[in-house]
Amino acid sequence: MMDSRSMERYDRQIILLGVENQKRLKDSRILVVGAGGLGSAALNYLAVAGIGNIILIDNGIVELSNLNRQILYSEEDLGKPKAKIACEKLRKLNPEINIECLEDTFTYELGEELIKKVDIAIDALDSWEPRFILNKLCVKYRKPFVHAGIEGWYGQITTIFPGKGPCLYCLIRKARSREKIPVIGVTPGVLGVLEAAEAIKVILGIGEPLIGRLLIVDLYTMDFKIIAIKRDPNCPICSIL
Ligand SMILES: [Zn+2]
Repeated sequence: MMDSRSMERYDRQIILLGVENQKRLKDSRILVVGAGGLGSAALNYLAVAGIGNIILIDNGIVELSNLNRQILYSEEDLGKPKAKIACEKLRKLNPEINIECLEDTFTYELGEELIKKVDIAIDALDSWEPRFILNKLCVKYRKPFVHAGIEGWYGQITTIFPGKGPCLYCLIRKARSREKIPVIGVTPGVLGVLEAAEAIKVILGIGEPLIGRLLIVDLYTMDFKIIAIKRDPNCPICSIL
């Protein structure tokens, strides 16, 4: 049952999704890996949509140079752990949901514990090593995850659904992680919101998620295009499926 306050909070989206689907969002469990630019945008919208159980993990501290894009944080948060601040902000935004925050590094061992507890994950990372860990774990436990990556005005997003489409490793093998990626805040903003939209659709089994499709976004030219991506039958990660 949903109380009258929840019915009112989600009034506009219940018209769109129905009460049953709203309950399904409430019962869902999501892992968000990273609470930076992508994570800030995704987490805000996942929280207000009423995703009932959110686990977020980030080992970072809020720095002044984060504030051009990481909209969960303010000047008063400088020097504080991102995971802790993100949790406080999100709990204020929607006190009806459960949020668990981990000030920790996303390793294979910890990731394995976390991925078992959730239905879906969001890759809101900014480096490739932990992305490949997330990919490996999601394939192992057959959990879908939404990948996004950004640089400058450019972003890409796809939904990895083990068994239904390619994994991230089918798509990208060589990890190029740079120390300082140039970025304007709107890019992770747009891509993070798109990740939230994908997650909501996958949880509810509605719409057309980006499974086997990569959306490439260039905000400089406003060119949005989708390209088909295929499973590599010899992929060392997902060919076991
Ligand atoms: Zn693969």
